[in-house]
Amino acid sequence: MRQIVGLVTWICRKFLREEIEWIVAVLTEVLAGRRRDIAIRDEFRKKHPHYRQFIVDPNPPRTAPPPPKPAAPSLDWRELRADYEAKHGKPLTPVRRRSADSHVPAGHRCEHCAAPSEYLSFNDGKLRSQLRCKVCKGLSQVQCRFRKTERATYWCPHCDLALYRWKIQTDVTLYKCGNDHCPAYLRARAQLNRAERKLQRERPSQFSLRHIYREYHFRRDQLQWPSPSPSRVDLDGVPTLQARWCKLLDMAMALPQAA
Ligand SMILES: [Zn+2]
Ligand SMILES: [Zn+2]
Repeated sequence: MRQIVGLVTWICRKFLREEIEWIVAVLTEVLAGRRRDIAIRDEFRKKHPHYRQFIVDPNPPRTAPPPPKPAAPSLDWRELRADYEAKHGKPLTPVRRRSADSHVPAGHRCEHCAAPSEYLSFNDGKLRSQLRCKVCKGLSQVQCRFRKTERATYWCPHCDLALYRWKIQTDVTLYKCGNDHCPAYLRARAQLNRAERKLQRERPSQFSLRHIYREYHFRRDQLQWPSPSPSRVDLDGVPTLQARWCKLLDMAMALPQAA
């Protein structure tokens, strides 16, 4: 604090009043983020470069469900089941379900040996995104993690899974990918440094790691300027703040005086 007072004292001794006013005006512009040519030293930002870095993903989401991936199992579950029976002297039984939640819907198949759903069980509890095969012991990804995928509007361009409706606001609805294995999410998470990973656990909403799509409730051609007439002051070609102030003062002086 004493250093700051010293600096202010030095400025007051060194510069004229008008020059100090310009310094204040420029500093105000810098603090307001309107000066791209002057960067503020920011220790927190230096240590947390991804904090509140909300970048719009240039990849638009799919608007139709992705085509099913062709299954190309390298093993044959029937052969493996026969091998098991020959080795253990008893047939391999399907998975014994303890609750209705653990039921794997028909149609799911092991990616490695094509074993049907009777031999598959969820490997990650409530997430229900991974299947363990009892025949070959392999892990498979559940292709439609969100069961009601037929009701989805958008699908993630990175992992093809359905986006869920995250927030509904007056002007926009936000859709988000909730897949913990999404390559975009894993990539963004891997970029966090140690300090950011710690902060992300405390303030997860301040880090944008997942694919988000914003569906606006209006079209571009429906947007209107808030002012009925455009500004008559054109400052685009005036390079410096000082020159802008001078131009505004000149224009004010040229205005007809009120009676
Ligand atoms: Zn299998
Ligand atoms: Zn995704």
